[in-house]
Amino acid sequence: MPKKESFPATKRLGQQAIVIGSSMAGLITAKVLSEYFDRVTILERDQLEDSAEPRQGVPQGRHVHGILTRGHTIMSELFPGLTDGLVEGGASLVDMSKDLAWHHRGLWKRRVDSGVAIYTQTRPFLEWHIRQQLLGCKNVNPISECDVKSFMTDAEKRRVVGVVIHRRNGEAHEEELTGDLVVDASGRGSQTPRWLEDMGYDKPEESVIKVNVGYASRLYRRLPSHQKRWKALMLYPTPPQGNRMGMLFPVEGNRWIVSLIGWVGDHAPVDEEGYLEWARNLEAPDLYNLMLEAEPLTPIVTHKFPSNLRRHYERMRRFPGGLVVIGDAICSFNPSYGQGMTTASLGAITLRRCLDECEGNIDLAAQRFRKKVAKVLRAPWMMAAGEDLSWPAAEGTRPFGTKFMNWYLRKVHELTARDGEILVRFLRVMNMLKPPYTIFHPRILFPVIAHTLVPKRLQYTESSVQGRVVLNNEKK
Ligand SMILES: Cc1cc2nc3c(=O)[nH]c(=O)nc-3n(C[C@H](O)[C@H](O)[C@H](O)COP(=O)(O)OP(=O)(O)OC[C@H]3O[C@@H](n4cnc5c(N)ncnc54)[C@H](O)[C@@H]3O)c2cc1C
Repeated sequence: MPKKESFPATKRLGQQAIVIGSSMAGLITAKVLSEYFDRVTILERDQLEDSAEPRQGVPQGRHVHGILTRGHTIMSELFPGLTDGLVEGGASLVDMSKDLAWHHRGLWKRRVDSGVAIYTQTRPFLEWHIRQQLLGCKNVNPISECDVKSFMTDAEKRRVVGVVIHRRNGEAHEEELTGDLVVDASGRGSQTPRWLEDMGYDKPEESVIKVNVGYASRLYRRLPSHQKRWKALMLYPTPPQGNRMGMLFPVEGNRWIVSLIGWVGDHAPVDEEGYLEWARNLEAPDLYNLMLEAEPLTPIVTHKFPSNLRRHYERMRRFPGGLVVIGDAICSFNPSYGQGMTTASLGAITLRRCLDECEGNIDLAAQRFRKKVAKVLRAPWMMAAGEDLSWPAAEGTRPFGTKFMNWYLRKVHELTARDGEILVRFLRVMNMLKPPYTIFHPRILFPVIAHTLVPKRLQYTESSVQGRVVLNNEKK
């Protein structure tokens, strides 16, 4: 465990902040809050072991969890020892082009030294490292095996002033805990909409894009023979016909994690034969061939993800003071685009900015956060929802411009198979290092126009994985 760090409360705002949920959003936000409150209490329903094992409250932890470069940068700034700890424990650094073989929309992406890199490890390993780092802050107080049951409010129900908890360790009992700020980081299943209703407020409006995505994952021992050509493998489907995606990331313990991900109900089965057969029908054979050879280390586990879900707290006319909702509790994206942990991190630093600017007024900071975080979520939501709406079976409102964006991005993806600079620019947007509008930079826009007018010029590209690859329209 790292040495206890004494964090100076530079701008003290209050005595106690309460965070519901000790997963990624909760841990990262708690670190930010520890700069402003004498004590930050994190309430977690699970029993938290001192180990990097999957746990009940985070079932997604058994599946591939890539963290985008921006998210990792924020986390490593908040937790300075994090990256060293991950690498020492066996995480891999993967350049998203040089080290990643990525088959996308029927083409292998170009392999160049992109400088856009991610660390890969299992999700419980990442979370455990962050938790250890956070426990080094002496004003952070984690309470596990503790279920939050409802909010406590002031007499007029204008402020959330604490929470009612049910403790399960020792003699089970209910108690009340007061705080100057309550942060709901309890994930997609957040009860805030219901608790707000109980207080006499409206429920937030929701945006929902139903995609019916299913994950089926397992760990394998790494085959050293494959490590020279690539470190990680991603095979994306080509909508609307293709529904199947396969991902392989190197993780600690000299293992690979493989997730087979199916859209619109096309989910991989969990029996050995069915699992392999499903992988055989991915758009490139590389993952299937490897799965035939590699030794599985765990059973196949599944996770269903019904829909992208966004709760529009920013649109509520009345909202109580003293409350912040963050992470998956406010927006849960189709996980295959790997945005959840990064947007949770962006949420935490947005909250920090609001707390910095509020001149001691916590309620003002919380109200500003509600509006500001909605802006932060706009781009990742557009990327995830827009891509998912390429499947005609996906259900949800198709915003104006979706068709055009999907067409444009398809062209960009085709160009990334042969043009290294376009690929790098795309990777920077994808990893949230550059704003989405930079995808229309002239260095991309003009080649897209040229490619549209003279498509034949781009018909063949070299893949550093498998030799020559073909464009979709040549497959038939
Ligand atoms: C299959 C899958 C794969 C994913 N892959 C990626 C990926 O590759 N990259 C990425 O960035 N993101 C990925 N995500 C998303 C990512 O897991 C989340 O965005 C991230 O964990 C942040 O979530 P959170 O902390 O807001 O909520 P969660 O991770 O859901 O955690 C909520 C926490 O709150 C606790 N809790 C809930 N209710 C209560 C209560 N009433 N009282 C006390 N405690 C409570 C839970 O036990 C849990 O610990 C994936 C998600 C899924 C489902």
